[in-house]
Amino acid sequence: MHTLSLPTPFPVGPVNVYLLDGPSTSSGQASLTLVDCGPKTPEALAALESGLALHGKRIEDIRQLVLTHHHADHVGLTNVIVGRSGAVVLSHPYNIPYLADYETERLRHLPFYEEIWAQGGVPAEIIGVMEKSGRGMTRWHEPMKVTRTVDEGDIITAGGAEWRVYHTPGHSGGLICLFNESTRELLSNDHLLPDITSNAVMEPPPLGGAGGPRPKRLVEYIHHMQRIADLDPVIAYPGHGDLIHNARELVRKRIAFHRRRADKIYAALCDRPLTLWEIVQPTFPKLSHGMDFFLAHSEIMGHLDILVDDGRVEAVEDGRLVRWRAKGNS
Ligand SMILES: [Zn+2]
Repeated sequence: MHTLSLPTPFPVGPVNVYLLDGPSTSSGQASLTLVDCGPKTPEALAALESGLALHGKRIEDIRQLVLTHHHADHVGLTNVIVGRSGAVVLSHPYNIPYLADYETERLRHLPFYEEIWAQGGVPAEIIGVMEKSGRGMTRWHEPMKVTRTVDEGDIITAGGAEWRVYHTPGHSGGLICLFNESTRELLSNDHLLPDITSNAVMEPPPLGGAGGPRPKRLVEYIHHMQRIADLDPVIAYPGHGDLIHNARELVRKRIAFHRRRADKIYAALCDRPLTLWEIVQPTFPKLSHGMDFFLAHSEIMGHLDILVDDGRVEAVEDGRLVRWRAKGNS
């Protein structure tokens, strides 16, 4: 397993992609697998090529590309790699619409977000900057094809070993982790990061689930973080930052952070019912970028979902607005 760090134009900084080199266990033939591939920039491509060269490899040698989730910093070079190597592309079915046509997905999502923001009492100028930043992401995407879908329990052979697929929605609905049961190594990508808590990004129900309830991404995320911690990995290879040697302890800290944040919001709601914006604004008073506003709304909605599931908070409609109220308080 080799870690290649590639630059990204995004605030998160460099992304880690992983090179697994070794015979395929089925055929015994040499086979090179890349897990995620970096953003669609000349700088990331150059870093990928020089990283491969360090290990005596070229893009043309890649047989298999695994996309852990659909975010632009993880998938952008897919077409370049497939065009030069003919590699098969593996990902969870949930990622396919985003990968196939990001702009159509973005437009499908828009009314879903607009409804939440309107109900949340978010000011028009804040909605404007969030929508602008969503449009801006289009340039980092191009249509790409998944050759083979993988889901919970499937086995991917890579680097001469078998990796079990864990579908762990939270940071994104189609996110997968890979776990090697014999060495207890985990490819955690953005499901578990060493230095930051991954945002559980608010998403509409998947295509085909029209009219279904909004997935509670933070609730799912916490559930699947615990599930991964229970595997007790000896090492986790994250999508950003250094390798993780204390996955169980890190998960404990992450879950405690979310519980503390939820408790704080609950305390504020005991004073008086609040809209989504009335919680976001004082919690994150210094935001200016559209994407940060978007992620802040995702995060607070996630904490409200936790409180609702705990039976501590309820949503009350007030005309077009939705206010969140501590139960038992009038
Ligand atoms: Zn991501």
